Amino acid sequence: MARIVMKFGGTSVADLDRIRNVAARVKREVDAGHEVAVVVSAMAGVTNQLVAWCQSLSPLHDAREYDAVVATGEQVTAGLTAIALQELGVEARSWQGWQIPLLTDGAHGKARIDRIEGAELIRRMQAGQVPVVAGFQGIGPDHRVTTLGRGGSDTSAVALAAALHAERCDIYTDVDGIYTTDPRIVAKARKLDRIAYEEMLELASVGAKVLQTRSVELAMKERVRVQVLSSFADTPGSLVVDEDEIVEKAAVAGIAYSREEAKLTVRRVPDRPGIAAAIFGPLAAAGINVDMIVQNIGADGLTDMTFTLPRADLPRARKVLDGVRAGIGFAELLADADVAKISVVGVGMRSHAGVANTMFRTLAEKGINIQVISTSEIKVSVLIGAEYTELAVRALHTAYGLDAA
Ligand code: ASP
Ligand code: MG
Repeated sequence: MARIVMKFGGTSVADLDRIRNVAARVKREVDAGHEVAVVVSAMAGVTNQLVAWCQSLSPLHDAREYDAVVATGEQVTAGLTAIALQELGVEARSWQGWQIPLLTDGAHGKARIDRIEGAELIRRMQAGQVPVVAGFQGIGPDHRVTTLGRGGSDTSAVALAAALHAERCDIYTDVDGIYTTDPRIVAKARKLDRIAYEEMLELASVGAKVLQTRSVELAMKERVRVQVLSSFADTPGSLVVDEDEIVEKAAVAGIAYSREEAKLTVRRVPDRPGIAAAIFGPLAAAGINVDMIVQNIGADGLTDMTFTLPRADLPRARKVLDGVRAGIGFAELLADADVAKISVVGVGMRSHAGVANTMFRTLAEKGINIQVISTSEIKVSVLIGAEYTELAVRALHTAYGLDAA
């Protein structure tokens, strides 16, 4: 007998039939003798609609009222799921954030969880009740409803699993697990039985959007074992766990890509102390997140500085740099939005040599030019022309032995 949290995303509760399906799945776990708490998202599309309504009335709407509106989506599904469970003879009760309470800070629209009072829920579960918790929401210091940022019900579920000392947090979604890469690009992508928190974080932040990044950070910090699985299939999913739980550490666990980057080159800047600060300081002040950076060798006391940033921030970054151009004294700004970032990720890299070299060799064999390189302890990323994205991901998938048999 275990205590588990089962979280269902928007597509899993998209209509009444699917909510019945969710209830049947929950009942199976209850019948197996487990103590179960359920966390639900809003029905697919509902949050988008609620956000759009706020925007239409006022683009700069009050964040407290935004939360009052968008938190309702999860309240509907929590109530409906409780009713569906009761219909199956399962004793269930819905819970909104304030009722638990799930306490957050006051950052309306993107609040962070401070604390969850788990005692009452644990008492009820031990007495055979199934709490059905509205995800994505909590209560702030101002005693008003708060929401946790888009995709936040994953974080609700992980935080609840930690507060309830659950053995596992099962996240039911529309994919049946975490894959070695995007199966839409590589038909031979393989589902991973296990993936380390750190690998998942790297893969999440570079484009594999299965779990909200913050939920993975929280799971890693609180040591919550997370399973990602489909509510439409009966196959086991992928476990996101501590790397100690992974016996065979492959050098590369997965390959991610992102087409949401752009490259900026500041041409012919004076090569002197303080120049990086003069370029990146104003960008940071404008809230622009710079990622890969290379500085070329200087000649005639001048150098080129190339870096990547989110493509959406490109116009703003140009404006910021044009504004400080006179002070810095560079010749020109070159922008290229036709780029893709390809990353290979694996905790096994810490002990395997040659991972980066395999990447460079593989891309060279395909005639793909590498524009920028960056590395961390468990990741190697390269920037290439966007048109080579698929070719690069497929070739690397094969080169690292990740192809399914
Ligand atoms: N319903 C919210 C959203 O769409 C929260 C979630 O589904 O995780 O962002
Ligand atoms: Mg989600």
